[in-house]
Amino acid sequence: YRAKRSSQRRAFYEAAMEGSARAHLRLESDLHHALEHSELVLHYQPEMEAASGRMVAVEALVRWQHPSHGLIGPDTFIPLAEEVGLIGPIGAWVLDSACAQLKAWRDAGHSLRVAVNFSADQLQDRDITDRVAAALERFGLQADDLVVEITESVWLDPESAAIDNLHHLKRLGVRLAIDDFGTGYASLSYLKHLPVDILKIDRSFVTDLAEVGVDAAIVRGIVSLAHKLDLEVIVEGVETQTQCALVRDMGCDVVQGYLLGRTLSPTAFSDAYFSEASCEGSTT
Ligand code: C2E
Ligand code: MG
Ligand code: MG
Ligand code: MG
Repeated sequence: YRAKRSSQRRAFYEAAMEGSARAHLRLESDLHHALEHSELVLHYQPEMEAASGRMVAVEALVRWQHPSHGLIGPDTFIPLAEEVGLIGPIGAWVLDSACAQLKAWRDAGHSLRVAVNFSADQLQDRDITDRVAAALERFGLQADDLVVEITESVWLDPESAAIDNLHHLKRLGVRLAIDDFGTGYASLSYLKHLPVDILKIDRSFVTDLAEVGVDAAIVRGIVSLAHKLDLEVIVEGVETQTQCALVRDMGCDVVQGYLLGRTLSPTAFSDAYFSEASCEGSTT
């Protein structure tokens, strides 16, 4: 039954991806419905300081709890949301929801920052900086509590309106991260002009780090470049102790990946990482 359901879901979304008009319409109305009926959820993954193992941040990753198709990952519905023009409201919901969650964890005594993924389309919105400022204010957060992650390819078009918005966000005090760093084929000269704070090394360089000398050379090179430019380096996709020890010895600042923690619902996340604090809370 499960296999049948998941293959139906796959077939449906593949049809939508391939441009079936009917599947598109269906998805669009499903997504509208999802937004109105709170079917979107944010899961969180911890980011640990490599040297100390201390949790310094969480990344918010959106999922769609579909009533009949189950939990759908962002790689399936975010590209479609972009196509049907729904990324604006979804992005706004993600931002609000992540800020609300951070506020709740802050109030419970946990000092963390939260990272939120923005899609290219969100950065074309001329009001994006005001929206971010409003969300921070609503939840009493400081601008540097928030990291905005943007996939590398977005940074590469110097003509794009997105670049102005990156400067505005930076002026507001938000920290900016280049996600999937190392996967966009372009000159690195954009690092000179763009207001970036953090490089997130793509997990494709980490998977075979212990075996592939080229990957190790690339990671070392990125770390050295980043530190010379005063940027922080986060390594994503760390799954083994060996990878973790290697990237720490290479000087990476922060590690993220299944070894350190999987993505969890807010409740599961609190139980896994903050259970002591909730015991303290119950005694007061
Ligand atoms: P990303 O921002 O690069 O996020 C990392 C992805 O790798 C996440 O997949 C995460 O669950 C997964 N991951 C983390 N650690 C490991 C590991 O050790 N091994 C492996 N194999 N995978 C790991 P997820 O949650 O499916 O998200 C996929 C992508 O969807 C994200 O890539 C991001 O680009 C996008 N995305 C997620 N949430 C949002 C959102 O709220 N808005 C937008 N616009 N995009 C989002
Ligand atoms: Mg990300
Ligand atoms: Mg990434
Ligand atoms: Mg990605």
